[in-house]
Amino acid sequence: MKSHVEVAIIGGGVTGCSIAYHLMKAGFKDVLLIERAELTAGSTWHAAGGTGAFGGGANATYLHNYSFSIYPQLERETGQSCGFHHVGALALARTDERMDELQRHHMAARRAGLETGWLTIEETLKRCPILDPSTIKGVLDEPHFGHVDPSGVTQAFAKGARDMGAEIVRHNPVIDTRLRPDGSWDVVTKNGTIRADRVVNAAGLWAREVAAMAGIQLPLMPVEHHYFVTESIPEIESLDFELPLIGDADSEYYMRQEGKGLLLGVYEDPCTHWAEKGTPLNFGHELLPNQLERIDKNFLQAVEAVPVLGAAGVKRIINGPMIFSPDLNPLIGPYPGVPNYWCACGVMTGFSQSAAIGMVLAGWMKEREPLFDVFMWDVARYGRWAGKAYVKARTGDMYATRFKTLYPYEHRSAGRPVLTTPAYALYREKGAVFGASDGMEFPLWFAPSGTKPEESLTFRRPNWFEVVKGECLALQQGVGIIDISTYGKHVVKGAGARAWLDHVMANRMPTRDGQLVLTPMLSHTGHLMGEFSVAQLGKAEFLLIGSGVVDRYHHRWWEQFLPSHDVSVESMTSGLCGLSVSGPHARSLLSRLCDQDLSGDAWPYRRTGRVQMGPAAEAILLRVAYTGELGYEIYVRPESHLPLLEALIEAGKDLGVSLAGIRALNSLRIEKGYGAWGLEYALDYTPFESGMGALVKFDKPDFVGREAALKLRDRSKRYVYSLFEIDADDADPWGDEPILAGEEVVGFLSSAAYGFRVSRSLALGYMKGTHAGTAEPLSIDILGKRRSVRLLSAAAFDPTASRMKS
Ligand SMILES: Cc1cc2nc3c(=O)[nH]c(=O)nc-3n(C[C@H](O)[C@H](O)[C@H](O)COP(=O)(O)OP(=O)(O)OC[C@H]3O[C@@H](n4cnc5c(N)ncnc54)[C@H](O)[C@@H]3O)c2cc1C
Repeated sequence: MKSHVEVAIIGGGVTGCSIAYHLMKAGFKDVLLIERAELTAGSTWHAAGGTGAFGGGANATYLHNYSFSIYPQLERETGQSCGFHHVGALALARTDERMDELQRHHMAARRAGLETGWLTIEETLKRCPILDPSTIKGVLDEPHFGHVDPSGVTQAFAKGARDMGAEIVRHNPVIDTRLRPDGSWDVVTKNGTIRADRVVNAAGLWAREVAAMAGIQLPLMPVEHHYFVTESIPEIESLDFELPLIGDADSEYYMRQEGKGLLLGVYEDPCTHWAEKGTPLNFGHELLPNQLERIDKNFLQAVEAVPVLGAAGVKRIINGPMIFSPDLNPLIGPYPGVPNYWCACGVMTGFSQSAAIGMVLAGWMKEREPLFDVFMWDVARYGRWAGKAYVKARTGDMYATRFKTLYPYEHRSAGRPVLTTPAYALYREKGAVFGASDGMEFPLWFAPSGTKPEESLTFRRPNWFEVVKGECLALQQGVGIIDISTYGKHVVKGAGARAWLDHVMANRMPTRDGQLVLTPMLSHTGHLMGEFSVAQLGKAEFLLIGSGVVDRYHHRWWEQFLPSHDVSVESMTSGLCGLSVSGPHARSLLSRLCDQDLSGDAWPYRRTGRVQMGPAAEAILLRVAYTGELGYEIYVRPESHLPLLEALIEAGKDLGVSLAGIRALNSLRIEKGYGAWGLEYALDYTPFESGMGALVKFDKPDFVGREAALKLRDRSKRYVYSLFEIDADDADPWGDEPILAGEEVVGFLSSAAYGFRVSRSLALGYMKGTHAGTAEPLSIDILGKRRSVRLLSAAAFDPTASRMKS
């Protein structure tokens, strides 16, 4: 075993082996994989081996598709069979709601470059003659599905890695990891200690225990999962082709051909957790006791769809553990705040994800940033707030309803609330329906008195449509308060604060107290790493407002530009609560409480500063509004949140003050054409594509990403940020729909909402550079119906911003 390596990977399941393979491919030289037992000794060996290219959003689908597509090449390269069967899948819909979902799925796949298609009953039976279609309403053909041999895939990655020079050591448990003063790690194993520049935790079922060695608590919990394999079935024996996978989401099972029989796997409801307090260190190549009664209901539904299953003898039953994060997505990337400690854990569908995880981590280590936006898998998306109770509730709910219909805008309630602001009880009293962002509850909308604060789950216009209309119009006509406590807030202080900001941000930073500047933050490759409002509060003190969900993501990014003795960067995301107050009476309302003159001359658009606001003796006031109305944002310490809110409501009674939720804010910002982080703005785009090019100041001699951005500026744009209106009917688009010119995909929507101030269905998104500003007729599909789309040349509401600046 080597004594010093560039990367030490802990765990030889399919994930660890893929990472070793991809690191070697990316040009790393010293890669060591350490496995406590045999390769595959965790969840990998007993997996059912299903693999598919569709992963939900466009980037997840790209990653799944990468994994799905690698097997033929891996086999060719290594000579090791992966047992790859490319048989496709049939997604069954038994209900109208599932049909709606599959319609969306069909379009989302198209947006991501995958073609799926509807099958007639005759076509379905040709592909799958053992299916009884009498309970089926529709069948979507998904060609990019198949199955592999789990052990073969793992060995192929391992062989590929070894052939390129990686070292793989088996039967050698890692018993400790110790951070050295220089940021490298001592990886202590049963057979000696290795120094590693970087450590990767790919310990699967034991990822929690391995993380704890480095003082890290990962939000993971194992669950039990059943599948069984039948004896040969005569109707299958007589076929001269292999059956496709069957996905019967309404019945929470998956099925495929195994040999000449069938394999049936079930996401049991209720879910059974396993080893909640910790995975036993001596758990070996073992299975868990079967509890087939837990899958009775699903089995009967499967027999309804595939009657020959009912008569088949069972050959093998598997009940094995696998480990999940709260949203069932992997936890990958550098762990924030712990130098050179990388995670590749919580991998639910290893045969659709592990290759991509290897590819992403190798690229990330090399380029010091992910190659594109992988936040949906990033370990930084969960903070310490995601404790064991939350993880248990969430994994249990997500597992048991793994294939449940996912509705637009749905905020699932399991495990909540975890974090609340001090005004939570008051909002609840006022009828708030809550969502959660990074664990924190916030009002989505307020149910009028006498109505139930409950969301209807539908793909069409929901029960809150008219309510949110009321909130938007009340704000437009009077003054509305929206809680913005979930925004990201950071304070940068010290003699070196401005210089530091000038280095990490692309725009020129404020130069006087009270000035506020909007700025993109670029990655090393010149892509969007963030976008912030930067307010100068004092000579050496700045407040940054950005997206709250990426708080830890941003602080992890900044770690590489610190420490510097004369600057400190502190997250105030949970240390400050925020209220947006906007509408034509916003100034009158705040003037009643504020200790300063808020007239337009004294407090012009974009001015910022410290004020006293009613009971809040310390408040930060920014004259900005994401709503497009005359408006302000007020940030106060949590202790002042509730008293300030109550004072605003009391003081604004005669001005028609009202509460609005984030659903209203979403509609209002889309009317104004304002993008949001994670939707319109992300690492996937350059500032020039996203309409932020003018905020990149190349006359600054040096800032992160400058040289790369210069090249990107002069390159033709792949995408162009665009505003749209849609001829919608009883369903608005959601975001993620492909935009079509004829049948050609020429762009996509990133978010959408009905604009109540303009009475139109609106969306934001990107046109391909080749089609930007096109005059050709455009359309999207909403629930299977073609709808016209028009490009807007300016914001749908108040394009000159006269209201905001009044
Ligand atoms: C019943 C069942 C069916 C499944 N079916 C499918 C399917 O059809 N398709 C699909 O994609 N996925 C399926 N899965 C999920 C799949 O098994 C996992 O996604 C995948 O195996 C995760 O691989 P991993 O390498 O991340 O973790 P693991 O396979 O758990 O590997 C972790 C490795 O780390 C090693 N290790 C742990 N601690 C240490 C230490 N201290 N020192 C050194 N080594 C250590 C372990 O020995 C182990 O080999 C299924 C899972 C189950 C349980």
